[in-house]
Amino acid sequence: VLHPRSAKLLRALVLSPMLLVAQSQAFQFTSRRWLNLQEYQSKKLMSDYGVRVQRFFVADSANEALQADKRLNAKEIVLKAQILAGGRGKGVFNSGLKGGLAEQMIGYNLATKQTPKGGVKVNKVIVAEALDIARETYLAILMDRSCNGPMLVGSPQGGVDIEELVASNPELIFKEQIGIFEGIKDSQAQRMAENLGFLGPLKNQAADQIKKLYNVFLKVDPSQVEVNPFSETPEGQVVCFDAKINFDDNAEFPQKNIFAMDNKSENEPIENEAARYDLKHIGLDGNIACFVNGAGLAMATCDIIFLNGGKPANFLDLGGSVKEAQVYQAFKLLTADPKVEAILLSIFGGIVNCAIIANGITKACRELELKVPMMVRLEGTNVQEAQSILSSSGLPITSTIDLEDAARKAVDNVSKK
Ligand code: GDP
Ligand code: MN
Repeated sequence: VLHPRSAKLLRALVLSPMLLVAQSQAFQFTSRRWLNLQEYQSKKLMSDYGVRVQRFFVADSANEALQADKRLNAKEIVLKAQILAGGRGKGVFNSGLKGGLAEQMIGYNLATKQTPKGGVKVNKVIVAEALDIARETYLAILMDRSCNGPMLVGSPQGGVDIEELVASNPELIFKEQIGIFEGIKDSQAQRMAENLGFLGPLKNQAADQIKKLYNVFLKVDPSQVEVNPFSETPEGQVVCFDAKINFDDNAEFPQKNIFAMDNKSENEPIENEAARYDLKHIGLDGNIACFVNGAGLAMATCDIIFLNGGKPANFLDLGGSVKEAQVYQAFKLLTADPKVEAILLSIFGGIVNCAIIANGITKACRELELKVPMMVRLEGTNVQEAQSILSSSGLPITSTIDLEDAARKAVDNVSKK
């Protein structure tokens, strides 16, 4: 069986008679599709593998949530909004609510420090038995580039702000590198349990949960399993109170069932549309659209717009290999966005030559009747020829000398915000 990555690579090679090495590198940089599961989906997977989570059910209406008494028979109930963002503990609903009442949660937007300003609409809540928490720790298993394999990361100080802890108290972060062939050793699980501060019988229990979580990591091919808080209750149980499992698209082929759970309702429609053409679209607040190839160049382009006093409306990443159909779709998406007052195209034509890109651009702009001004910064092979194609096109395209020049001209062409 051909691995999907090789299949794609092969297809790329058949479609374009380019240098083999160049293409294989290009492929590595094409945009990836990520899958982030909702907490309830992650917890279901974890509990299938024997990891301890609270008893819960999922409700998509307030009425359904009211069945909690009957279905859970718990002393106390906790409602948790299901959105793909953390910080919910400190989030605010646009119904005014700060805690949990199903009728003021479902159908409203929840804003946390990880969501866009207006928040994200809540369609579902977890209805769970509330347990008391005696102590909160942090635990994650992720693929770590520096050791080319899985890494167990933990901290005795879990809860809401792990990112800040990493910066302020790095000595409170503990790591165990796991050999992908040997798997997690008892001694590693025990040492992590101890570092997390689990004492007495809790230590074995925590180590057991850690091993089970590693088993989940092994079985479902995620890029990350994160449990924050990984906690103990006053009754002496180790419980995973939160769960986040993320995947990259290499897992799609072996994990079809999991990827089938991906409902893209939380994505902006434009992002789904972009993903169909292997484009990555990130929406931002400003009015200058960035049309780039590669995430690094996207960041640099956004930065240079900011430095020149402008604000990016988005960035649309073509990935490493530029195809004509993609260029067309990319323009279609950008010109349909009413926020966009100018387009800054910043492409490095290292593999695909600039003249081909320039032809793709002029063709797409003619067909789509480009109305907003566009600054083009091309660099790489055949750049002179590309510039003459653009300047003689009669389209509202300004060819620029470098990225700085392009950014300045783009900022000059939009209203100030
Ligand atoms: P996040 O803020 O979006 O990551 O949501 P979490 O699920 O991690 O919940 C945030 C915080 O709420 C946790 O760190 C806990 O302190 C608290 N919490 C969540 N579930 C429970 C529960 O069942 N009982 C208690 N006592 N606290 C909870
Ligand atoms: Mn959490």
